[in-house]
Amino acid sequence: MDCIFCKIIAGDIPAYEVYEDENVLAFLDINPVNPGHTLVVPKQHHATLVDLPTDLACKIMETIKKITPAILAGVGADSFNLGLNNGKTAGQVVDHVHFHIMPRFADDGHVLWKGRDYQEGQAQQVLEKIKQSLSDI
Ligand code: 5GP
Ligand code: ZN
Repeated sequence: MDCIFCKIIAGDIPAYEVYEDENVLAFLDINPVNPGHTLVVPKQHHATLVDLPTDLACKIMETIKKITPAILAGVGADSFNLGLNNGKTAGQVVDHVHFHIMPRFADDGHVLWKGRDYQEGQAQQVLEKIKQSLSDI
């Protein structure tokens, strides 16, 4: 399989490794939003969060909670964004599920998403469709 993150996990491609345990690897993003921008990945290849076994998803979240304060302290940030681009349309480029820990600094120029208004009745319609789908799971 031609997966760049699997190659990093295997040690075939170098990376600045921040943290490693049995299940999870964290390393610096090669093209950071800000210094300290870290990617957290499962060592097993899974494409998206939906494909990821729940216990592994929980382990990744435990790792994120554990290492983020140290990352922030290391770069002198007091805030961060946690990102997951899930699927091509959402901007996922590397098809090995990964969370972005992005330290934030005042006036760093990083732009968050912009919200839009619902049209009249649209929220209720959307909610009903989602609830219908939820009743199937
Ligand atoms: P995505 O858009 O898939 O959520 O983000 C992929 C991220 O992986 C990007 O932020 C990109 O900079 C990072 N990235 C891509 N290739 C490499 C690499 O070879 N090494 C490292 N450390 N990061 C990479
Ligand atoms: Zn992979």
